[in-house]
Amino acid sequence: MKGPRYAMAVDTRTCVGCAACVIGCKEENAVPLGTTRDWIVTETSGVYPALATQFRSERCNHCADAPCVRACPTGSSHYGPGGTVQVNPAKCSGCKACITACPYGARYVDPRTHTVDKCSFCLHRLASGKRTTSCQEICPTASILFGDLSDPESEISRALARRTWTVLLPDAGTEPQHYFLK
Ligand code: SF4
Ligand code: SF4
Repeated sequence: MKGPRYAMAVDTRTCVGCAACVIGCKEENAVPLGTTRDWIVTETSGVYPALATQFRSERCNHCADAPCVRACPTGSSHYGPGGTVQVNPAKCSGCKACITACPYGARYVDPRTHTVDKCSFCLHRLASGKRTTSCQEICPTASILFGDLSDPESEISRALARRTWTVLLPDAGTEPQHYFLK
């Protein structure tokens, strides 16, 4: 693929699960009450007293092989700039096929418009020349990295080269572009 390949990474060593990212996203994107574009997962592992807790800020994975795009009968769900996955509300019939197809539960119906929505990687900010997402900007522990994987010198490329990482449901064949640094 030519051009940028936008991706996000969350540092699970420093994320404290404060949910500032969730609030920042709600404010930035006017996400309606009762719905959310990102969320915190808390996972505890080990055997008492040797327990470890991991916090993860999760959202749409902007999959490179996205089942939501394949399932959408109207072309509303589509690949946008930098390989992101976007929804065109003008084309959305509200059939919810994409919600069923997404294995990550990343989509919701906007109660105001009855069309589907989700994280856009703050495409409107990128289009206006900003280089950060709202969740990244507000994170008090700087645990969210966003950038261009086609640039080996970008902060996210360097972090993924230096650290070990995982993606959610790696066997689902969706090629998630949202990484979790271990
Ligand atoms: Fe589509 Fe779900 Fe992947 Fe996002 S996480 S691109 S909504 S399949
Ligand atoms: Fe496409 Fe909208 Fe149906 Fe989702 S709800 S599959 S975006 S037409």
